[in-house]
Amino acid sequence: MSKNLTSRAEDYSKWYNELVVKADLAENSAVRGCMVIKPYGYAIWEKMQAELDRMFKETGHVNAYFPLFVPKSLFEAEEKNAEGFAKECAVVTHYRLQNDPDNEGKLRVDPEAKLEEELVVRPTSEAIIWNTYKGWIQSYRDLPILINQWANVVRWEMRTRLFLRTAEFLWQEGHTAHATKAEALQEAELMNNVYADFAENFMAIPVIKGLKTESERFAGAEETYCIEALMQDGKALQAGTSHFLGQNFAKAFDVKFTNNEGKLDYVWATSWGVSTRLMGALIMTHSDDKGLVLPPNLAPYQVVIVPIYKNEEQFNAIQQVANEIIGDLKERNISVKFDKRDTLRPGAKFAQHELQGVPLRIAIGPKDLENNTVEVARRDTFTKETVILDRISVVVEDLLEEIQESLFTKALNFRDSHITEVDNFEDFKKVLETKTGFVSAHWDGTKETEQKIKELTKATIRCIPVDNKMESGICVYSGEQSTQRVLFAKAY
Ligand code: AMP
Repeated sequence: MSKNLTSRAEDYSKWYNELVVKADLAENSAVRGCMVIKPYGYAIWEKMQAELDRMFKETGHVNAYFPLFVPKSLFEAEEKNAEGFAKECAVVTHYRLQNDPDNEGKLRVDPEAKLEEELVVRPTSEAIIWNTYKGWIQSYRDLPILINQWANVVRWEMRTRLFLRTAEFLWQEGHTAHATKAEALQEAELMNNVYADFAENFMAIPVIKGLKTESERFAGAEETYCIEALMQDGKALQAGTSHFLGQNFAKAFDVKFTNNEGKLDYVWATSWGVSTRLMGALIMTHSDDKGLVLPPNLAPYQVVIVPIYKNEEQFNAIQQVANEIIGDLKERNISVKFDKRDTLRPGAKFAQHELQGVPLRIAIGPKDLENNTVEVARRDTFTKETVILDRISVVVEDLLEEIQESLFTKALNFRDSHITEVDNFEDFKKVLETKTGFVSAHWDGTKETEQKIKELTKATIRCIPVDNKMESGICVYSGEQSTQRVLFAKAY
C-alpha cells in the first residue's frame, strides 16, 4: 500500500492534492489546468448530477444543449459580461493544420484556414443562448422558458487546483426567460434554494444562502445569489450561484415580447450554475487524515464486503453468506460491492476502502461463519460492531442514515463555531489570523472599503446572508454607519 497521506494539520493543501490522487478521484493531465476525472471520482459526480437533474425537473425545468463555441460578435454583445470574462477566454482562430514545410514531421496552423470570425470557447453560455431565445420568444405565451444544460466550459484560470478551480470544468447552467421582473427574481431565489437544499440534504454540507456584493457579482448580473460553505481549514468556498440578470441580455440580443396587455417589453432573465467544484467542497468538508469520507448519498458503493479466509472452502462459505447479504441490501436500494480480489490481503483492502471513503465495511471471517455474525465498521467514526446475520440489512440501513445525518451535524457544528462576530478592525484581523472561518462584521456598503479590507487581510465579503437581521452598527474599517452585518472570509 502507498504511504500515508500528509495530515491536514501538517499541510492542508498537500493533504487535499494527495487525497484527490490517491483516492483515485482525478489527476492532472497533459493540458495545463485541465484534469482527468477518473472513474471513481466521476461516479460521485454522476450521483450529484442525477440528484440535481431530478431536482431541476421537479421544479419545472427541462434540459437542452447549445454549442461549445460563441462567435466573438455575439460574445461581446452584452458588454459587462464580455468584459468580465475577456481575460479568461480561449479563442479559436483557425480551423485546419498542415505539414510544416520548415519543420519536417511537424504540423502548423494553416495560415489559409483563418476563421472569418473568431470563436470564443464558452466560459458561460448566456450569449449563445440569448441569441437563440430571440428566435423563440414573441409573446408572453412563449414564456417562461426554463432550460438547463449539462456542459463543459473553459475559463483560462491562472491558478488552478484539481476540482476547485480548473481551466475546463463540468457544470450545469440554467438559463431562464420570464415575462416579469418579479418572476425572474423568484426563479433566481428558488434555484439558490434548490442548491442549498441539495448541498445540505444530499451532500451533508451546511451552506449560508446570501447575496453577493456588487464587486463579487457575476459579470452582467443585477443580483447574484450564492451558497457559501466553510472548509475544514477555515476558508470559505462559493459552492453555487444563481443570478438575476434583469433585462441585460434581452437588451443586448434584442429579445422582446408582447405582454398580456399587448405592449412590447424586454424579457427578464436568470442563470444559475454549480460545477465540479462541488467535488472539492465534498472532500474538504468531510474527509480526514485517512482519506475520503463520503456521505452515503454520494458513495459509488455504500457498503463493501471483505472476506477473510485461509482456504477455498472458507471462501466459498463466506461468498454464500455475502451473496445473501447483497441480495437483502439491494432490495433496500443499498449499493454494495463484494471485494473478492485474491491479489490483496484484507488489511490492504481495508486501507483502500478507508482511503476511498466507503461508508460501511462488512468483514466476514471463519469465526463469523461459526457464530452467524459479521463485523460492521463505520468509515466516519471507525467504530466497529458485531452484528447477527439476520439483522444485518436493518442495521446497515439505519447506520447509513445515521452517517448521513452525523456528517451534516459535525460539519454544521464546525461551521457554526467558526462564525465570529467582531466590532473592530483589530479583532477582525486577529480572527482571520488565528481562528479563521467567517467573520461577521458591519460594513459601510462601499466598494472602496471592501477593496481596502481585501488588500489588508485577503478576506472578501462572501455574502450578505438572505436571512440577515437588520441592526445598526459601525463599519469595522471606516467607522461609517451600517445597517447589517455581512460575512467576510478568506476563500478558495
Ligand atoms: P459563475 O458562472 O461564475 O457564477 O460560476 C458558476 C459556478 O461554477 C459556481 O458555483 C462557481 O463556484 C463555479 N466555478 C467558477 N469558476 C470555476 C472554475 N474555474 N472551476 C470550477 N468551478 C468553477
